[in-house]
Amino acid sequence: MSDGRIPVAILGATGNVGQRFVQLLADHPWFRVAELVASERSAGKCYGEATDWRLGARMPETASGLPVLDYNADLQSPVVFSGLPGEVAGEIEQRLASTGHAVLSNTSTHRMEPDVPLLIPEVNADHAEAIATQKRNRGWSGYIVTNPNCSTIHLVLALKPLRDAFGLDAVLATTLQAVSGAGYPGVPSLDMIDNVVPYIGGEEEKIETESQKLLGGYDAGAGFVPADFVLSAHCTRVPVRDGHTECVSVRLRTPATPEEAIAVFEGFRGVPQELGLPSAPPQPVIVRREPNRPQPVFDRDDANGMASVVGRVRECPLLGLKFVVLGHNTVRGAAGASILNAELFREQGLLPV
Ligand code: NAP
Repeated sequence: MSDGRIPVAILGATGNVGQRFVQLLADHPWFRVAELVASERSAGKCYGEATDWRLGARMPETASGLPVLDYNADLQSPVVFSGLPGEVAGEIEQRLASTGHAVLSNTSTHRMEPDVPLLIPEVNADHAEAIATQKRNRGWSGYIVTNPNCSTIHLVLALKPLRDAFGLDAVLATTLQAVSGAGYPGVPSLDMIDNVVPYIGGEEEKIETESQKLLGGYDAGAGFVPADFVLSAHCTRVPVRDGHTECVSVRLRTPATPEEAIAVFEGFRGVPQELGLPSAPPQPVIVRREPNRPQPVFDRDDANGMASVVGRVRECPLLGLKFVVLGHNTVRGAAGASILNAELFREQGLLPV
């Protein structure tokens, strides 16, 4: 049944990120969930039967009766959102892009490729220009665009206004990441209760390299040029359900006081806010001034989970300035980020519809 909205497919629809896509797209003004795809364990069942729904509100009725398709299905939707595990995403996403679909992916597989945009619309909307090069290089009628790792996106949303205003020289970031970031069932409960795990495989490297691609430049001739600052990340997993917290120290090129930094955070707006995109938070970076905020349990859903919440902005004796940033890992850190990318592309005429 067509209602004028663009039909979309979701890959990995039964997983943590997939369920978030289903929830966020249920009443979307521009997109309609038309096709749901998961592994052979789920294919052939209806979505309501195949999915162990783990989000607070009930499963949207528009999704529960849809059949779950397998990855070889001939998808009809021009727009495909991907929440696939990295191990399986590569070939599936490439096949769909080669056959004319716009693939908006959460997976790390293609993020650092030299012709694949890694996009946060408030930060580097201009990197979408690389889509033309990608299609030409690969002979594809569609394309792949990625959004960053769930910790990177909140860190970079906070770094972008600081870099624009004061220049950025060095960053030290320590993450306290929620358990839902590891998928389902994720980290065993006996490893998480009463504990902090000081290692998340590959995560520190992702934050370090993705941040430099996101804050760097794009030139059709030179490609992506990484930003010229150093970043060191420590990543830990903590017994929190949703919401990644990050403790960040920065050395700015022009030193700034905490009040100057707060003014810059609060004044920050990007292309999604200018265009009034449906999922855009009014303010990408929200500042809390209480001494004990942000906290995951209270602040992760601020602006429907689409903003980064900064607090404890203060002087750092080591690098000059420090703060805490918190963000929802499956909303702005995953599904919501892809949806915002798709909204931007619809406004820019980049969707194959
Ligand atoms: P998840 O909960 O484990 O879900 C994985 C999904 O992929 C399920 O729908 C599952 O289908 C399907 N799947 C699993 N193995 C498969 C296989 N061999 N072939 C085909 N499909 C398979 O994982 P997630 O947390 O949603 O993460 C999905 C992706 O998003 C990952 O690449 C992750 O790194 C990325 N990501 C996650 C977060 C986060 O906060 N969780 C944030 C940013 C990015 P069945 O149910 O049928 O098995």
